[in-house]
Amino acid sequence: FEKFKNGLSKARNTIFKNIKTIFSGKVLDDDVLEELEEILIMSDMGVEVSHEILEELKSRYKADNSYNDPLLLLRDILVENLQKDEVVNDFQQKPYVILIVGVNGSGKTTTAAKLAKMYSSQGKEVVLAAADTFRAAAIEQLKEWGNRLNTTVIAHQKGSDAAAVVYDAITHAKSRGKDIVLIDTAGRLHTKSNLMDELKKIRRVVEREVPGAPHETLLVLDGTTGQNGISQAKAFKEAIDITGIVVTKLDGTAKGGIAFAINHELNIPIKLVGFGEKEDDLQIFDPQSYCNALLG
Ligand code: GDP
Repeated sequence: FEKFKNGLSKARNTIFKNIKTIFSGKVLDDDVLEELEEILIMSDMGVEVSHEILEELKSRYKADNSYNDPLLLLRDILVENLQKDEVVNDFQQKPYVILIVGVNGSGKTTTAAKLAKMYSSQGKEVVLAAADTFRAAAIEQLKEWGNRLNTTVIAHQKGSDAAAVVYDAITHAKSRGKDIVLIDTAGRLHTKSNLMDELKKIRRVVEREVPGAPHETLLVLDGTTGQNGISQAKAFKEAIDITGIVVTKLDGTAKGGIAFAINHELNIPIKLVGFGEKEDDLQIFDPQSYCNALLG
């Protein structure tokens, strides 16, 4: 919980602080409800979700008199509006393959490194695949992380076939008995159809080389991009089967309502959240901690 509390301090102390202020009279009249709706919309929750939450708050506050503090009721309703589902953590087969997708700058490479750190500290052997062959900087960045975390990085030259990098990474993992292959992919959006074709090709290689894989396809979303990020996410969802979302940069947003909008509009569980640039700034998503930290 402390990590959530620190990570979301900006959101708590900016937008969500106003909820506490308007609720301080502990009476839910129309003025308070109107102000609350404005705050929720401002938090990036989206108009539809904000409205639904408000309606639920109204009817349950009337019906259920066990809540004498509306803030506690709101918190429970917010928690119910988030799905909980854990990222793969039950390793029975080798190698486990996790595909990481998302637009450039969303935090894919950093998330790959953070996951490598998380799984290595659980005693798993990890291979990182530098499958964003479009940008030399992406390959270099992943290699740097590999050095820092003492994790193998399989990379080819810029411009080479991304699916071939993935094939090599899986072959390496199989021959050395490694537990997990984390695949960092490209995220250029201006040539969307090519990117989606490339991701599909990578997926086919993974499926062919490891039965049952990919075990997880994580879509990385920048938590500061609001509704814009959600429409990008929909494009990925249409092209490939996403099993979980990673919301990054939540430390940098004064909003934080984006998690509810993501859940509602994409109907894919958030599995991980990023609260910073360092390797330890990744947390397994927990709706209870998330909402407590926002309203705490
Ligand atoms: P990619 O292009 O999707 O691979 O994105 P990167 O992993 O290169 O990340 C883009 C920038 O966002 C980098 O400067 C990262 O340090 C930064 N970043 C990634 N995740 C987080 C996060 O959770 N919090 C903050 N504050 N910065 C992050």
